[in-house]
Amino acid sequence: MPEPMHQIVLVKLPEGRLTPDCFRLETATRPAPGDGEVLLRVLYITLDASNRAWMQGPTYRAALTAGGVMYGRALAEVVESRAEGLSPGDLVFAETGWREWAAMPGRQVQKRPRTDPLTHQLSVYGISGLTAYHGLLDVARMEAGDTVVISAAAGAVGTIAGQVAKLRGAGRVVGIAGGPEKCAWLTSELGYDAALDYKSPVPIRDQVREACPGGVDVYFDNVGGPILEAMLAEMKLHGRIACCGSVSTYDAQTPAPGLRGAPGLLVTKRLTMAGFIVTDFAARRESALAELRGWVDSGAMKVPEHITEGLEGLPAALVGLLAGENRGKRIVKVG
Ligand code: NDP
Repeated sequence: MPEPMHQIVLVKLPEGRLTPDCFRLETATRPAPGDGEVLLRVLYITLDASNRAWMQGPTYRAALTAGGVMYGRALAEVVESRAEGLSPGDLVFAETGWREWAAMPGRQVQKRPRTDPLTHQLSVYGISGLTAYHGLLDVARMEAGDTVVISAAAGAVGTIAGQVAKLRGAGRVVGIAGGPEKCAWLTSELGYDAALDYKSPVPIRDQVREACPGGVDVYFDNVGGPILEAMLAEMKLHGRIACCGSVSTYDAQTPAPGLRGAPGLLVTKRLTMAGFIVTDFAARRESALAELRGWVDSGAMKVPEHITEGLEGLPAALVGLLAGENRGKRIVKVG
C-alpha cells in the first residue's frame, strides 16, 4: 500500500515581492528508492536568501521554474539504501526539495557527522558558516587590526562573519542591520563593536563615517544596492570588498540598478572588489570547519539559529526571512 507524504510546489513565480500564495501544499506518494538510490526522511530544511534569487533568473544554478516541488536543501536521514557506502541511520545533506521524503541517487548526497545539535550542520558547519569564513578570510583577506563592516549582520552569514572577524583579531567590527532591536542584539550578544540601523532616518553613509572615522579596510557585502554604494565611498585606500550576495535586490522583479560612482572610487581608492561562491573554497573546507569547530566547542562562538516547525510553514518562513524576521540561521524542522 503506497504511503502518503506532503510536499510544497512552487505554483507560480512572484510578480514583485514573494508571497505565500506562490506555493501550494500537496499530498503525494512516498517514493521508493531505485538501484543506486537512497530513501531519505527529511529532518530539517534550510532557508536561504538565495532561494528567492533563483526565482529571478539563472545564477550559479539554473533559474527556478513554476510547476515543480520547490527546490531546497536539507539535512535528512537515510531510511533505506540501495546505494554503496550509505546505510540506514546515516545523516546526509541533500537537495531534497521541500518534501517530507525523497528518493535520490547516493552519489548526490553528502554524509554529515551527527553533531549536537544536528542543525549546526546547516548553520555554522554548513553553507552559511563556510561562506562567512571564506568570504572574510580568503576573499577579503582580513588581517588583524582591520576595521570591518558587515551587512545583513544579524542574518545567517552575518552572525558568523562578525564573530570570525573578532576571533581573528579585527580592530573594529561594525554590523549593519534593520531596526534598533537587531542592532542592540548584535552588540550585546554577538560582540559587534557597533551596529548601524539602515532603516533609521540617518543616511547609512553618515552612520558608517561616524562609526569608522578612519575608514573601512574590509566590507563584507551581503546586500548590494544602496548600502554597497554608500560603503564604496567609506573604504580606505586599498580596501577590500567581499561580494557575497545582494539580498536587497532579490525580492523584486525588475533588475537591480547599477552602482553610482563605482568605477571612479575603485580607481582612486585602489579598491579590490571580488565576488565568490562558497564552493570555490572546497579545498579549504576541512581546515575551515576545524577552526569553526574549535571556536564553537570552546564557547568562543555563538551559533544563533531561528528554527520553526512544520513543512507547511516553509513559504511564510521564506517570506519572513526576506523581510528580516530572522536572527541567525533560519531552519524549518520537518520530521
Ligand atoms: P540572512 O539570514 O542574512 O537573511 C537575509 C537578511 O537580509 C534579512 O534577515 C534582512 O535582515 C536582510 N535584508 C533583507 N532585505 C534587505 C535590504 N533591502 N537591505 C538590507 N538588508 C536586507 O540570509 P543568508 O545568510 O541566507 O544570506 C546572506 C547573503 O549571503 C545573501 O546575499 C545570500 O545570497 C548570500 N550568500 C552567498 C553565498 C555565496 O556562496 N556567495 C552563500 C550563502 C549566502 P535586516 O532585518 O537586517 O534587513
